[in-house]
Parts: sequence; structure tokens; C-alpha cells
Amino acid sequence: MLPALATLIVVQDLDTAAETARHRLAGLPALLQQLDRDSSEAAGVVEAAKQQLAANGAARRDLETQASAVEARLSRFEDHKAAVKTNQEFTALLHEIEVARGSKDALDDQILGLLEDADGITAAIAEAEQTLARVKAKGEATRREIEAEKTTIEHELARLGGERSRELAGLEAPLVARYEQILKQRRMLAVARLERDVCSGCHVKLRPVVAQHVRHNDAIVTCDSCQRILYAPAAPATVETSDASPA
Ligand SMILES: [Zn+2]
Repeated sequence: MLPALATLIVVQDLDTAAETARHRLAGLPALLQQLDRDSSEAAGVVEAAKQQLAANGAARRDLETQASAVEARLSRFEDHKAAVKTNQEFTALLHEIEVARGSKDALDDQILGLLEDADGITAAIAEAEQTLARVKAKGEATRREIEAEKTTIEHELARLGGERSRELAGLEAPLVARYEQILKQRRMLAVARLERDVCSGCHVKLRPVVAQHVRHNDAIVTCDSCQRILYAPAAPATVETSDASPA
């Protein structure tokens, strides 16, 4: 095989690996943001339940104030009983006492209902706090994993970049420029395999004379359709990883 072609195949493999790594790296911030969102969401549930409990307490205190007022009124009625002169006045007073007791009972029922609600809300707060703690702990662990992966990918990219430079140093400048240009124009795939006379880069069938030329692997031959540099895989027995992507 033409040494320059062999080098370009190696460089393409490095670039494909680097592209995959960059893609993964670019996706990491979104994963971190998702962790933040999960944590805020869990904290929001705790906050909402706490606000609910505060509202419950405020409503209960309001009802208790009302109940105390009714109770004060009732004890005043008891004092009035002694001062009542007529049957009519007495009947009216009894009626007022009855009404006041009725409203006191209603208030007590409402207060009891709010106390029961408060138990439920308190339990919900405890559960939400446990969930928040779990989400935070899991988030921290995942965050550390992501940070470690980021470092690994950055090291890998540096290694791939170094190797790429060393490989390209052995090639003629115009060929490097051509490779770089095709790489940019053709979605990071500048060197494509020939598969049954078809360019694996754009999936267009080559003219027989061009395909024949490519099979010799002794010159830089490009695809008529996508301009990618073509080569014929050497050993048909080895299973090559597919570097084909749509043109
Ligand atoms: Zn092509």
C-alpha cells in the first residue's frame, strides 16, 4: 500500500476516535445540568410541603383565636344568666348560647381536621427530605463520575492529537491540506473504504475503472461523488469496524 495512504487511514481512525470523544465531552455539561435540575426539583417538593405546613399552622392559629373569642362570649353569657329578668330574655339568651356552642363545635372540628392534615404534611416533609438526600448523594456520585470521565476524555483527546500530529508530519503539506479540507467538508470522514465497488462514505457505486484503481491501493484516489479518499481493505477475513457515515 502507498505509505501516504496507509498514514491517512491511521489519521482518519484517530480523527474518528477524537470526534466520538469530543461528542461525548460536549454532552457532559447537559448531564451535569440534569443533576442540578433533579436536585432543585427534589428541594422544591420539600419547600412546597413546608409551606403547606406553615399555611396549615397559620389557619389553625386563626381558628383557635376565633374559638377563644366564642369561648369568652360563652362565659359572658353565663354571667348574664344571673341578671336576666324575664322568660323572654332567658329564652333569647339560651338561644344565643346554643348558637355560640354550635360555632365553637364547628371551629373545634375544623381545628382537629387541620391537626390531622398537619400530621400527614409532616410525614410528607420527612419523606421529601429523604428523597432530597438520596437525590443529592446520587447526584454527587454521578457528578464525580462525570468529572472523572471529562478528565479521561481530555487526556485521550490530547493523546490522539499528539499521535495525529506525528502521523501528519510524515506527509506532504498539500496532501495534509487536502485531507483536512475533505474532513471539514465531509463530516469528519475524509478517508472511506471501498466496499463492493461502493464508496462507504457516500454509498455511491464507483465507475469500474476508478474502483479498479482504488483496489491497487497505490495512489490517492478520490470518490467521484463525495471526493473522499478511497482505499480497499486489505484482508477480507478481518472484520473492520464500520466508519461509514452518510455523506
Ligand atoms: Zn463517496
